[in-house]
Amino acid sequence: MKHWEDLNLKYKVVANINEDKCIGCQLCYTACEDGAHQAIALSEDPLNRKPTIIEENCVGCNLCSLVCPVEECINMQRRDDGKEVLTWKDRTLAGNIPVTFNDPLAGGLHHWVPEPSEALTKKKPLHYKSN
Ligand code: SF4
Ligand code: SF4
Repeated sequence: MKHWEDLNLKYKVVANINEDKCIGCQLCYTACEDGAHQAIALSEDPLNRKPTIIEENCVGCNLCSLVCPVEECINMQRRDDGKEVLTWKDRTLAGNIPVTFNDPLAGGLHHWVPEPSEALTKKKPLHYKSN
C-alpha cells in the first residue's frame, strides 16, 4: 500500500450522470453539497430537475453514486490517460501547495463557505461556476 503523499494527483476520475435514467430527485446534489465538493449544479430552469456535474470541482469520491436511488444512473469515468504523475510530496518539495480553501491550487474554485451569521439569511446561487 502506498503512503498518501505518494499517490498520483493526476489520476482523475469524475462522476457522470446518465440523463436518460435520472429521475431528478436531486439526492446527489444534496450529498455533494453537504458531504463532498459542491461539484453538482442545478438548472436554473424550474422545470428541469436533472443536475449536472461540475467536473473541475469533482474529486471522484463516489458519494453521489452511493446515494442515487437509480441503479447505474451515476457512474465514475476516468479522465486522465495515466501518463502524467505528480505526488503531494513532489508539490511540497516544489513549494506548490494550496494555502487557502479557495486557492486554485486546491483543485476547485467557488466553493461556498458562508459566514455563520449569514447561514440562515444569505442564499447562494444555484451555480457557482463563474465561466
Ligand atoms: S463524485 Fe463526489 S465530488 Fe464528484 S460529484 Fe459525486 S459527490 Fe461530488
Ligand atoms: S440522485 Fe440520481 S436520480 Fe437523483 S437527481 Fe441525482 S442522478 Fe438523478
